[in-house]
Amino acid sequence: MDNVIQISYFASAVLFILGLKRMSSPVTARGGIIWAGAGMLVATLITFFWPGMENYLLMTVAIAIGGGLAYWSGKKVAMTDMPQMIALYNGMGGGAAGAIAAVELLRGNFDSTTFMTLAVAGALIGSVSFSGSLVAFAKLQGWARKPLRFPGQQLFNLALLAAAAGLGAWLVIQGEYTGALVLLFFVLALAYGVMMTLPIGGADMPVVISLFNALTGLAVAFEGFVLNNAAMIIAGTVVGSAGTLLTQLMAKAMNRSIGNVLFSAFGSAGEAGEGAVEGSMRPIDATDAGVMMAYAERVVIIPGYGMAVAQAQHKIQELTELLRARGVDVKFAIHPVAGRMPGHMNVLLAEANVSYDLLYDLDEINPAFPQTDVALVIGANDVVNPIARTNPDSPIYGMPILNADQAKNVIVIKRGQGKGFSGVENALFFADNTRMLYGDGQAMVGELIQAVKEL
Ligand code: NDP
Repeated sequence: MDNVIQISYFASAVLFILGLKRMSSPVTARGGIIWAGAGMLVATLITFFWPGMENYLLMTVAIAIGGGLAYWSGKKVAMTDMPQMIALYNGMGGGAAGAIAAVELLRGNFDSTTFMTLAVAGALIGSVSFSGSLVAFAKLQGWARKPLRFPGQQLFNLALLAAAAGLGAWLVIQGEYTGALVLLFFVLALAYGVMMTLPIGGADMPVVISLFNALTGLAVAFEGFVLNNAAMIIAGTVVGSAGTLLTQLMAKAMNRSIGNVLFSAFGSAGEAGEGAVEGSMRPIDATDAGVMMAYAERVVIIPGYGMAVAQAQHKIQELTELLRARGVDVKFAIHPVAGRMPGHMNVLLAEANVSYDLLYDLDEINPAFPQTDVALVIGANDVVNPIARTNPDSPIYGMPILNADQAKNVIVIKRGQGKGFSGVENALFFADNTRMLYGDGQAMVGELIQAVKEL
């Protein structure tokens, strides 16, 4: 039986890795999810055949509850709420790793100090990831948007971390301890997760969630060593490294260091730089905007969070086809952190059957803006804010942006004077070459379609 178990774990590891590989392109990503899911199914089912396994009823009930809730929430969740859901699921992974460690620590019969060290390290990391992810969830859900800061906070957090790590080390060195000490260790670790996440601003949450994701992977891998479970070691390592890479890529897309994300409170409304823009926003109506686009040679469409809210992607696809039929060169500019999750815009546009060939990322499209006749910004704000290039006092200074302001004409679709996620005023909306098309994204693109059709 042992061989069957090990072969099954090997098969699930291969499925995880191939699944991850397929997720690197939108064309194959859907299949990648299914492959990785199949790997998880194999790994879960084979656990029932482990020698000495008991509690089949409890396991089945737990799987039914967990699987049922995940299926229901996965079906129900709106695309715009996906980051919260990822934060929650990720937190559960960290919590599970922490719970495994708790059981092993209370049992206390480790083969060696190395295994115990791994259990304690996994417990610390998993618990931080669990409680931190829950705070991230609450922030993204809008329950706790304002970062909580107080004087001496960094020192306090450092002391909390040192206390948790110190107690963990003490448990390993002593080898004998009471359940109360284990409990105190977990309380300190969980408290650190909460305290380290509370001061971080909302706009940095995606990076933080990705970091917690990497930490969860690491914790699971550590606990995999403790349980001698190859699938956990491999899955944990894959998640840990993928999460680390994603964290770095996202931080780079915002031009921030990980340290800066963790220890500065960027992304809170009311930061310096707000309201520093002078001038007025000039409106345009859909008929005039439609004419501008229909007679343009090159149009670049820049989707953002508002397109997701308005669910305007299908209408955008219809407009794109209309313009292309008239010979207009239409491209899409995709910012890496547009929307509320990595790849958010790609997913929405793929859902509306927009051809991948029309999507360009930041580095590819930015040189094309000076030759662009019309840049159509739909529900994007922070990712096109030129202040990120020009105002060193702004909290978003240094974040690479789409240089829509360099286009000959800019049309911005948004409902009103609402700010972007970072709460910073957008200089693009006040520029001489910009016109505002006020209204809901879907309705306004509908009117643009009508205007182009009537020409
Ligand atoms: P922003 O959040 O900066 O701006 C969205 C704009 O859409 C708002 O100004 C709003 O203006 C407009 N809007 C909202 N609803 C509608 C609607 N129904 N129709 C038309 N317009 C609408 O979006 P961006 O995509 O430019 O930037 C993303 C921001 O989110 C960045 O700061 C990024 O760091 C952050 N972030 C990114 C994540 C990611 O992984 N991609 C995750 C979490 C945060 P108005 O109210 O006037 O309509």
